[in-house]
Amino acid sequence: MKIDLAAARTVPKELRATLPPESIDVGPDAEIIESVDFLGSVWRDPRGPHISGKVTTKVRLECARCLGPAEIPIVASFDDTFVEEQAAASGEFEIKGEFLDESFAGDSVELAEVLREQILLELPEQVFCREDCRGLCPKCGQNRNLVDCNDSEDFDPRWAALKDLN
Ligand SMILES: [Zn+2]
Ligand SMILES: [Zn+2]
Repeated sequence: MKIDLAAARTVPKELRATLPPESIDVGPDAEIIESVDFLGSVWRDPRGPHISGKVTTKVRLECARCLGPAEIPIVASFDDTFVEEQAAASGEFEIKGEFLDESFAGDSVELAEVLREQILLELPEQVFCREDCRGLCPKCGQNRNLVDCNDSEDFDPRWAALKDLN
């Protein structure tokens, strides 16, 4: 869905979109598993056109403890300013760090691309499939959420190394 930024006016125009999960690629380690909903608007102020609003979806990542699937909801509110490339190049607009500025060429942007960036910003560095995920057994490597291997909880691989020396 292309958003016509050239047509943006000071009075916000409402935008609503529901994109299928497969329309947005968030990289090799994450997968969008629910439709991506966006409710917001396109408008303009002296700095340039804006797309602002809220994006919601659900993403599957790898659990940092057991490597199983961890599903997390994403809710991101944002206000993206698009600085026309010409203006950005001429220095007419000072790009300030606190604003998430995008430069663009032409008159429109792809909404899926705007939402993809917002979702990527929301992805946590580390996720767990559940708060009390027991992770993989350091001794036998089995997923302790699924099997009770009866290995000692406080097993320390350094002791095993010592035992092997005997
Ligand atoms: Zn886990
Ligand atoms: Zn084990």
